[in-house]
Amino acid sequence: LEEQIHSLQSSTPRKYPKVKYLNYKNRKRILITGGAGFVGSHLVDDLMVQGHEVIVVDNFFTGRKRNVEHWLGHENFELIHHDIVNPLFIEIDEIYHLASPASPPHYMYNPVKTIKTNTMGTINVLGLAKRVMAKVLIASTSEVYGDPTVHPQPETYWGHVNPIGPRACYDEGKRVSETLSYAYSKQEKVQVRVARIFNTYGPRMHMNDGRVVSNFILQALRNETITVYGNGKQTRSFQYVSDLVDGMIALMASNYTQPVNLGNPVEQTIGEFAEIIKQLVGGPSVIKQSKAMEDDPQRRKPDITRARQFLHWEPKVPLETGLQRTISYFRNELARSDRFQES
Ligand code: NAD
Ligand code: UDP
Ligand code: UDP
Repeated sequence: LEEQIHSLQSSTPRKYPKVKYLNYKNRKRILITGGAGFVGSHLVDDLMVQGHEVIVVDNFFTGRKRNVEHWLGHENFELIHHDIVNPLFIEIDEIYHLASPASPPHYMYNPVKTIKTNTMGTINVLGLAKRVMAKVLIASTSEVYGDPTVHPQPETYWGHVNPIGPRACYDEGKRVSETLSYAYSKQEKVQVRVARIFNTYGPRMHMNDGRVVSNFILQALRNETITVYGNGKQTRSFQYVSDLVDGMIALMASNYTQPVNLGNPVEQTIGEFAEIIKQLVGGPSVIKQSKAMEDDPQRRKPDITRARQFLHWEPKVPLETGLQRTISYFRNELARSDRFQES
């Protein structure tokens, strides 16, 4: 074994994506909770490339080591297996708090755990931020608006959430997470930023998370029926993940402390969306309507006036471009899992 280890140690060093050199004054130690997940792993990539030290904390409920494996062993990178419901004592300058299941089937799988993660988990993150005087960005959600009665949704809208419905564990969990952030800000002077994230898609999103983007792409790639829940007239606005990551980094850097919507205001019905995916993937899939989801928000579109004004941010990636990249990721993943099953 010793010989083996020695020969590995003297083999060519591992190659990593190129990172900038930052001197110690500009280099930050940044904690990303939920950093092995879909959005978190893209944030890791950007902050690493900028030259920061990045520490990921994840319990791997929906995240995967594979999403960040290209950084394992890099001197600026650290991966900690930890559940944020438990206290965490480390020294950092900034925190992006993303730990929480995000898709309806995932957060409904264990509603009590979803609530604990978004309440006790957020308290731990804010307690940590208070102790080390770190700035915190909370990943909130458009779900705080519930099934909205105002359209599009500005940040000043207080929302329309069923507190005991199947989505409540997530919606109310995130609402408490926001409440906690402003309580720690007022009472303990913790610097907080709140991003209300709208539907986001892109490579590394879960193949089997039951969300509309992954369901429709997989169904189309497998020539299966594309399942539209309800009459397909409900709307969503989809943002590509790199736009979201740019927005989060801009929000963290800004002096703006009120919640900010981060989403793409281009809205479509779910029926239209099914047609778009079918056309982009090609193949013989048919589109069929099935049972509607309980408490499904009927319209959702962000008003991004605040983000434009205070962050000078707006989404750049057109839907078709983003979907093409996502489809090719899913195609590769399917081929990979086929190879895996064969071997
Ligand atoms: P994801 O499921 O891919 O990532 C969440 C990560 O958090 C996973 O890696 C998971 O393992 C980890 N996690 C969950 N519970 C944890 C716990 N108790 N302790 C430690 N780690 C835990 O989801 P995502 O789409 O990347 O979402 C990231 C964040 O953005 C979430 O907070 C989500 O609520 C928010 N958000 C996402 C979207 C979207 O469309 N993707 C929309 C609105 C808000
Ligand atoms: N906490 C943590 N890491 C820290 C500091 C605090 O996980 O570095 C946790 C701590 O365990 C507590 C929570 O954050 O449960 C809230 O901390 P706060 O200081 O607000 O509350 P207190 O410790 O006074 O109850
Ligand atoms: N949806 C659908 N077919 C699917 C999955 C989802 O018609 O296979 C619909 C769902 O009812 C909702 C919209 O697509 O109206 C977006 O659902 P998703 O779960 O992706 O995210 P949400 O915005 O509801 O959190």
